[in-house]
Amino acid sequence: MQLTFHGAARTVTGSCHLVEARGQRILIDCGMVQGGRAVEEENAGPFGFDPASIDTVLLTHAHLDHCGRLPLLVKRGFRGRIIATAATRDLARIVMLDAAHLQEEEARRATRRAQRHGKERPEVQPLYSVIDALDAMDRFEGSVAYREAKRLGDGLRATFFDAGHILGSASILLEEETPTGSASVLFSGDIGGPGHPLLADAAPPPRADAVVMETTYGDRLHRPYKASLDEFHDAIHGTFARGGNVIIPTFALERAQEILFVLRDGVATRRLQASTQVFLDSPMAISATDVFRRHPECYGSTLAALFARGEDPFAVPGLHFTRETSESMAINRIVGGAIIMAGSGMCTGGRVRHHLKHNLYRPDAGIIFVGFAAQGTLARKIIDGARSVDLFGEEIPVRARIHTINGFSAHADQAELLAWRHAIAGVRTTFLVHGEEKAMAAFAPMVGNGRVEMPTQHQTFKV
Ligand code: ZN
Repeated sequence: MQLTFHGAARTVTGSCHLVEARGQRILIDCGMVQGGRAVEEENAGPFGFDPASIDTVLLTHAHLDHCGRLPLLVKRGFRGRIIATAATRDLARIVMLDAAHLQEEEARRATRRAQRHGKERPEVQPLYSVIDALDAMDRFEGSVAYREAKRLGDGLRATFFDAGHILGSASILLEEETPTGSASVLFSGDIGGPGHPLLADAAPPPRADAVVMETTYGDRLHRPYKASLDEFHDAIHGTFARGGNVIIPTFALERAQEILFVLRDGVATRRLQASTQVFLDSPMAISATDVFRRHPECYGSTLAALFARGEDPFAVPGLHFTRETSESMAINRIVGGAIIMAGSGMCTGGRVRHHLKHNLYRPDAGIIFVGFAAQGTLARKIIDGARSVDLFGEEIPVRARIHTINGFSAHADQAELLAWRHAIAGVRTTFLVHGEEKAMAAFAPMVGNGRVEMPTQHQTFKV
């Protein structure tokens, strides 16, 4: 089996690994590079292989940095099949269509800019279109259940195992049988920590010859979940006591549903008044919540028990789903006592920027960050203590109370990553990917048994 790393090599985004075995060419994930305009230009560059030569894509989960370049792969000639769990397929549809829509808008804006400056050929093409995203959807072949081996060809099979990261997320074991022996590689995908309120814990296979694993938090430990939950409710109470609104910049997949679940539980346990107005102001998060409701096979025990009793885990009393722009704008008239969840999580776009414009300058408001904020994003600037920020060309002073709560992470921390890895026996080589170099360097010596590799972009290994 031959393994080449075409993405997420010594960085956190753009997952894309090529396996060549038994005459087949298999891609594990085909993700987008994220993190500001300069690095995102890499997405338009070559893949490092011919898309038409790929037979199968195995998709670990639906985050953009794992599935975001699939439409481009199809646009550039990929005609094979894509295999994923049913929940991943449904979520990937939302994610890819949203990404295509944003890129079409961006291209239209760039075209208008070029026209205004009198460029001879002003037409700017998007990286891919909504049609390309729909074409990518057509390449999905059925769906796989966890632990059900899928035959990919003679002597080659793939098995998906729950990764406990987001709905439908999987680690994928690829096994090759030849007349002279066998080999297996496990691709972790992104791994969630145990005790997630919505999902089951990660359950990797007992053995693998090689493991390719993410190391996003390879150098850090999270705060315990319960402490984070207390901090979250304290932030809400404090804001309401001052008379302001709570703004929660929210990632549409998974984090939005987790916060809804926490709020619902808060009302049930009387930590939160049932009369509180809650807004989920994100069409994408609303669609993702519908997908969540359709896939009880992915639930953890708490959520499964609620579902079995016929209860809706996301039905917060006083919850409004606002899909329409006019509804979203109406929220701006509320001056206090509301919880407003809106995307994007890092405040780089989306409706949350409007809510920040109307609340950031108010000392009574509270902004609660519940997810990762990359360097250079508006969320990071506010978290790092900016006195004022630019929103829609206006300098808005930051007077609201700012809270950052890191215990809601969908990624396992250092100790949890190690426990996951050590649950797998027989590993001769561990490849570290999907992490900053600093995180990998801290994690590598802890792996212990076997060889540890930190591949560079386009580097090839035999397993
Ligand atoms: Zn992920």
